[in-house]
Amino acid sequence: MSARIDVGVLGATGVVGQQIVARLARHPWFRVAWLGASERSVGRRYGDLPWRAGGMCPPAAARLSVEAPEPRHAPSIVFSALDAATASTLEPQFAASGRLVVSNASAHRMRPDVPLIVPEINPHDIRLVEHQPWSGSLITNPNCSSVFLALALAPLVPFGLRAVTVSTLQALSGAGYPGVASLDALANVVPFIAGEEEKLETEPLKILGARVPISAQATRVPVVDGHTLLVSVAFEQRVEADDLRQAWSGFQGPEHVRALPAAPARPLVLSDLPDRPQPRLDAGEGDGMSVTIGRLRACAVLDWRFVALGHNLVRGAAGAAILNAELAVATGAAGAARMLEVARDEEEVPIPSAC
Ligand code: NAP
Repeated sequence: MSARIDVGVLGATGVVGQQIVARLARHPWFRVAWLGASERSVGRRYGDLPWRAGGMCPPAAARLSVEAPEPRHAPSIVFSALDAATASTLEPQFAASGRLVVSNASAHRMRPDVPLIVPEINPHDIRLVEHQPWSGSLITNPNCSSVFLALALAPLVPFGLRAVTVSTLQALSGAGYPGVASLDALANVVPFIAGEEEKLETEPLKILGARVPISAQATRVPVVDGHTLLVSVAFEQRVEADDLRQAWSGFQGPEHVRALPAAPARPLVLSDLPDRPQPRLDAGEGDGMSVTIGRLRACAVLDWRFVALGHNLVRGAAGAAILNAELAVATGAAGAARMLEVARDEEEVPIPSAC
């Protein structure tokens, strides 16, 4: 019997769900044992459904049948890649049935008792699950652009961050499948993504525990993967460019987060090249888990401006959820300690001691 912990994926047939399945195929702690989706997919062999995550569908997942989105046969940890409307009702049902739900969806992110986690920034927030009304738990990762903005801003908060403006150039894969119609997307810019600006103006504040005005504008551009953020920042005090560079390049999560399998060696990567970061060249940095920052220069309106870029499907979604699940298991939070013990009884697994 394998020592890996069985996990399920709700919304397994979507863009993010497939990325989760693909990334878990080589995961040292987790094994995909259950897949759920809508009635359109229920009963079908996963490997017979269209696979769009690159390469081939992992054989172990391909053999599974897609099940109805009911907790009855689901394992103890369930990743959710459901759309927000479906997640709003289904995720609490899974949490009420004792499951640890690790969600990508926005439905419950801003609830005061739901952790919204970027493990390098606010891993301790996972303890909010103790205030949840369910026998299981629900933890969330942020909106894709919110993760990139929060990571870029986290090292700047100690300088007295006073104001932030951000404009996003968001990839088509961020809209799910089939996403934006090709006639709308090709050779065009769509200056509206429903709900995106509101998320960008609120989620980073919950993650950072900061009260800073953020003004956001979101656009959809004909890029496949990778969201670009054009950011300007103002500070309470004078801050030099070298202070910012050092803060970014020295930024890392606490030791127990750095030890997690999905944690990148460098959450933030600085580029001094005049024409970087670019989605095609930099979205895959750190196996898609790093955010690349470049083009730091003075701003004539606020103090400094820069460009940040991240992979929306990896650090912005699937990879972020997997890192959150690892954090829950490693810290024993969200009832995950029990699962870890079960796995350890079966075989020695390379999981760091609870921290
Ligand atoms: P998607 O491609 O549209 O996939 C949606 C998934 O939800 C599919 O598996 C679909 O199953 C399933 N589903 C829909 N209605 C359902 C129902 N009534 N019961 C059970 N399953 C149902 O969307 P996505 O881009 O993967 O996004 C998934 C979630 O992640 C969304 O909440 C999104 O906002 C969030 N997110 C996405 C990104 C990104 O870059 N794409 C980044 C961060 C967060 P069927 O195939 O059977 O219809």
